[in-house]
Amino acid sequence: MRLKKNPDSAISLRAAGMKATPQRCAILHVLDSSDRPLSVEDIRQELGDESGVPTIYRNLQSFVDQGWAESLVGVDQVMRFVRCHSTGHHHHLQCEGCGRTVEVQTCAVEASLAALGQPAGFRVTRHQLALYGLCPECQHQ
Ligand SMILES: [Zn+2]
Ligand SMILES: [Zn+2]
Ligand SMILES: [Zn+2]
Repeated sequence: MRLKKNPDSAISLRAAGMKATPQRCAILHVLDSSDRPLSVEDIRQELGDESGVPTIYRNLQSFVDQGWAESLVGVDQVMRFVRCHSTGHHHHLQCEGCGRTVEVQTCAVEASLAALGQPAGFRVTRHQLALYGLCPECQHQ
């Protein structure tokens, strides 16, 4: 396995009460160094063949629970994971041209979504948005 030592990941993991296993550190590092979302298979390839998909998936899920990562469905309907840097509610823009994602920390749609639930007597408590578009580079191609 090509597991790189990453002291920052180990510190974050321990601060969250998680054991800083080499695989967890490596997965965080792989997510940190990528500017586009990665599938479990992409991550497995980065880590090397010895890593099992179920373990990687479990570790990713614990990162999602911590708010450190998020799963996004791509235009090809494949689920991929992206590293989150905001601690609060946020969204990710996905470029349909190159696959890059950009994290946006503002959410301007909360009020409209609450209004959307009102006719049905529904209280909207949370939402997920898939935002697709073209990044500046892809617009100029
Ligand atoms: Zn996120
Ligand atoms: Zn792009
Ligand atoms: Zn939002």
